[in-house]
Amino acid sequence: MDFDLFVIGGGSGGVRCARIAAGHGARVGVAESRFWGGTCVNVGCVPKKFMVMAAEYGAMVEDARGFGWDITKTGYDWARLIAAKDKEISRLNGIYTRLLDNAGAKIFDARASFIDAHTLDVGGERITAERIVIATGGHPSGLDIPGAEHAIISDDIFVMKALPKRVAVVGGGYIAVEFAGVFAGLGVETHLVYRQPLPLRGFDEDLRLCLAEELAANKVVLHPDCVPKSITQEEGKKCLALSDLSMLDVDAVFFATGRAANTTGLKLDAAGVKTGAKGEIPVGADFATNVPHIYALGDVTDRLNLTPVATAEGHALADTLFGNRPRGVSLQNVPTAVFSIPPIATVGITEAQAAKRPGSAKIFVSKFTPMRHTITGRARKTLMKLVVDAKTDKVIGAHMLGEDAPEIMQGLAVAIITGATKADFDRTIGIHPTAAEEFVTMRTQTRVVGPEVGPV
Ligand code: FAD
Ligand code: NDP
Repeated sequence: MDFDLFVIGGGSGGVRCARIAAGHGARVGVAESRFWGGTCVNVGCVPKKFMVMAAEYGAMVEDARGFGWDITKTGYDWARLIAAKDKEISRLNGIYTRLLDNAGAKIFDARASFIDAHTLDVGGERITAERIVIATGGHPSGLDIPGAEHAIISDDIFVMKALPKRVAVVGGGYIAVEFAGVFAGLGVETHLVYRQPLPLRGFDEDLRLCLAEELAANKVVLHPDCVPKSITQEEGKKCLALSDLSMLDVDAVFFATGRAANTTGLKLDAAGVKTGAKGEIPVGADFATNVPHIYALGDVTDRLNLTPVATAEGHALADTLFGNRPRGVSLQNVPTAVFSIPPIATVGITEAQAAKRPGSAKIFVSKFTPMRHTITGRARKTLMKLVVDAKTDKVIGAHMLGEDAPEIMQGLAVAIITGATKADFDRTIGIHPTAAEEFVTMRTQTRVVGPEVGPV
């Protein structure tokens, strides 16, 4: 065999797996067909967060007035942001390949596909490997409606030459909500079209409600309970017909309607690897596919599609196979953030999930105007919620919408994973004056939920 391990895909999960395995002394090859660092670095987390930051500055400039600053906004230069973003991302691309190189992995700038269960075609070269990891990630999946070819997807936004004046964002998930904030913050007339009554299905209901209020306060026009029917292009504008029979005239329609696993073109049949209904690759706790020496991790498995999950999985697999440290990755209590404006962050279970568990759960909610906005006058709220198991007193869910929520939630996740009780939260001294201190000073129970207390 040419390699002990061959990794297909140089994204978050693949690079980590290849680098750690090579560090353990394995002979490792890794192929990337498009961009080193994968989705997160090139068309995901990193450039997205730069765009969210750019949008936040617009509001900050206005807010500074309340604190005595006289700053006049004279316009926004999208091209300058894209140039700065591109510069940073090419630096990151270099870091990724250097990390692999330094660890001793052999890099292939090429597309890989299976010839048989131990043989790959890597850019026309025939390569054999003892074990193979599929870490090919996913891609945006749009809607199949008439005129869908006129819509853009998230990949397009990162290379867009100019900002549209009016945009319709379709979807109510992470990407839709984040980019609605970006566009609205940069002064674009923004419509958000989603098929649920509230955005972010699966998140805590109070958070979802508060998010809808914040989006509206940021001038995002909300179209709940609505799906697009067709797109037509007329004299430079797009006309989006909606299921409520209304019509939106915009410059861009952006489909943020989910992602699908990158498995077509891999010739998985040649290796006997099975896929699920949506093209994803099912794996066990050890990341093995139905073919025991072929593994899959990260977004291609379509479980929790987050960068830190993909990297944790890549690391665990490399340690298991070559580092004499077998382990899996728990997908319970994975903290996550939505970089909406203001952001959301959450760990553990929601109030609705708690209400369905046996026993009962105490709910603590606090909603307040953040200190900064008592001066700026901006109509923006912070919402915090703790879900506490009534029997064990353990905190089983923490949820926040408000400035710095993702930064605050990382620490709370440590507490929750280690089984902290509400009493532990209560005996923790706050840091004053912060919003975070509210999490350790919530004394008054808002309500109790669960089968033992009946419907609330
Ligand atoms: P990827 O990073 O997608 O890497 C897969 C790589 O495989 C790609 O580079 C691809 O080119 C390559 N590849 C595919 N097929 C082949 C082949 N046949 N041969 C060779 N190479 C191949 N997650 C967060 O945690 N936080 C965020 O804020 C966040 N923001 C996001 C914003 C957006 C707009 C998007 C789209 C995603 C975001 N995510 C975020 C999700 C995150 O980007 C993914 O969960 C993460 O990148 C998954 O890593 P991966 O290694 O599984 O796949
Ligand atoms: P999501 O799955 O989060 O959201 C997809 C949205 O599209 C949902 O609102 C869904 O509605 C809607 N939708 C799906 N199909 C249709 C349809 N046929 N008609 C109308 N609406 C439809 O996907 P995203 O594309 O937003 O993001 C993909 C993944 O990437 C995320 O799930 C997340 O794992 C990751 N990500 C993480 C980020 C972070 O960590 N901050 C940021 C961005 C992405 P419904 O709810 O009704 O199904």
